[in-house]
Amino acid sequence: APLIQLLNINKAYKNVDDDTQALHHVTMNIHEGEFVCIMGPSGCGKSTLLNIAGLLDLPTEGEVLFKGENVVKISSRKRAQLRRDYVGFVFQSFNLIDDLTVYENIELPLIYQQIPPNERKLRVEKIMDQLQISHKKRVFPNQISGGLQQRVAVARALVSNPQLILADEPTGNLDSERGREVMELLQMLNEMGTTILMVTHSTAASDYASRVVHLFDGQIVTENLHKGR
Ligand code: ADP
Ligand code: ADP
Repeated sequence: APLIQLLNINKAYKNVDDDTQALHHVTMNIHEGEFVCIMGPSGCGKSTLLNIAGLLDLPTEGEVLFKGENVVKISSRKRAQLRRDYVGFVFQSFNLIDDLTVYENIELPLIYQQIPPNERKLRVEKIMDQLQISHKKRVFPNQISGGLQQRVAVARALVSNPQLILADEPTGNLDSERGREVMELLQMLNEMGTTILMVTHSTAASDYASRVVHLFDGQIVTENLHKGR
């Protein structure tokens, strides 16, 4: 079975004057090991789709199956648990906490998961080593470059060994060289088996995906499989 199935999803946001229909009848499967990219103009529903696939938000209609389980029907507490256990998030704005050091930012998901301190230390040090940011562990996010901040955000997303990584414009604030580094990192993780769902405007970034889904006005308009992958 696919890792995630979105079945006939509608999403409406209630506004004061009228409602915004952000997604219309979206059906898509994401299989384990895929690297899927969602593209489309601003406001077409990309973030909404990502948030629903990542169990951060619910559709107004339709079903979301995560590992075969309908997550629309379960409690929000159980959804949060699934999210913590399986999903890592990488956002454009990094979402790092300014008052915590690089080390503490990366450790945070493991604290939420109630991993014991000695294991936390091993895992944080291993991922910092892999991403070559160990020398920055004692500094605060605003003391390092955007490229390094994105690396820290990626480390934080990975430290819990998520089966699924959701990335919203992961190269958005980076120059092309730093952007390429982040994409190569995501590619390496994908090759090791992590499923990736990414939203981007950048064709340089979408080139790394095995499948590109185009959204327009809340609907899937085309899907392309990349050649040679
Ligand atoms: P994209 O990520 O492609 O820019 P979004 O998913 O953010 O698109 O938004 C899709 C539509 O839904 C837009 O019209 C946006 O203004 C609207 N929207 C998104 N989030 C909310 C929200 N929390 N409340 C009301 N409208 C929203
Ligand atoms: P992006 O294009 O990167 O998705 P946005 O600026 O569209 O960024 O959205 C940023 C956040 O604001 C999202 O969490 C989205 O749900 C929310 N949002 C977007 N449009 C609206 C809106 N019209 N009303 C309320 N919240 C919104």
